[in-house]
Amino acid sequence: MIDRQVTDLIDRLETQHSLSLEEYAFLIRNRTQESMDYIASKARRIREEIYGTSVYVRGLIEFTNICKNDCLYCGIRRSNRQCERYRLTAEQILECCDMGQELGFRTFVLQGGEDGFWNDDRMCGLISRIKQAHPDCAVTLSLGERSRDSYQRLFDAGADRYLLRHETADKTHYEQLHPQEMSFDHRMNCLRDLKEIGYQVGCGFMVGSPYQTPETLAKDLKFLEEFSPDMCGIGPFIPHKDTPFASQTAGTLEETLWLLSIIRLILPYVLLPATTALGTIHPKGREMGILAGANVVMPNLSPVSVRKKYELYDNKICTGDEAAECRSCLSKRIQSVGYELCTDRGDVRR
Ligand code: SAH
Repeated sequence: MIDRQVTDLIDRLETQHSLSLEEYAFLIRNRTQESMDYIASKARRIREEIYGTSVYVRGLIEFTNICKNDCLYCGIRRSNRQCERYRLTAEQILECCDMGQELGFRTFVLQGGEDGFWNDDRMCGLISRIKQAHPDCAVTLSLGERSRDSYQRLFDAGADRYLLRHETADKTHYEQLHPQEMSFDHRMNCLRDLKEIGYQVGCGFMVGSPYQTPETLAKDLKFLEEFSPDMCGIGPFIPHKDTPFASQTAGTLEETLWLLSIIRLILPYVLLPATTALGTIHPKGREMGILAGANVVMPNLSPVSVRKKYELYDNKICTGDEAAECRSCLSKRIQSVGYELCTDRGDVRR
């Protein structure tokens, strides 16, 4: 038997794209298999109306794992002495892009720790070289918090998009996940700056992070409603053995799928990845993510020699596969659930 109150809320979310904090928390508490099927079919329909059955590909280049921050959940936090540090050279990064271009990717995501070596001059130089070599490709940055002036310079150098997960929209919860020197307000201000500058912006959070509650998640959903990002990255929290959260429990597949569908109803146009973390907690996690309303995948383009070292969490998948293998494996997986990989730039369709 499917709970009438839950289906009513789902129906309202579908038409109004908004609920109260209390209603979101109720929805999060009252997930059942039947309601997951119910909302997923709506999420698929909405996504297909806007994006068809195309799933967009982003080539992920994990270009440095050197980080000045000490986020309690993250495997590359500065206090982790077990982490073997690396930094790709500009030449190596450009080779990754060339390889990606050959494989049909038209978006490159440069993701890394907050590494002081990659100051504005060096980043701008890199971005212009990538854009020069691949003028038809989008460059997405995921470099953490920087000044507004720095974001502006990177944008002027040619960067198109920026991913900065807000991590949680609850200040107290933010402080439980981060060391004292990091600030919730600063991170939120970065997101607003990025949007004002003109980037396509992605925010997001981990599902099942320590101290998360239905109430903090309700705030995340309300924040998405109000901020209206172009992209939204969510994936399960997975503990990393060399962090203070080593013995915490991981987020679940079901809750992640439930939230993916809810987010699709709040933001019909949003670019929503089925993340590597989702593929890590379940062998068919990414396929199930697509069936819950996701429409982006981010295969790894980093050189195999560094893959294992960019370990944000334990047991990350695909650390041994060459980019071409990742691409063909993902392509088969996406086809197996009735969708196809799309090699357009895949800009947001507002
Ligand atoms: N330094 C950049 C990139 C961070 S890594 C930044 O600050 O934005 C990208 C994302 O991985 C993080 O935003 C976080 O949400 C996620 N992540 C980090 N550790 C994780 C873990 N243990 N489990 C799941 N996701 C994690």
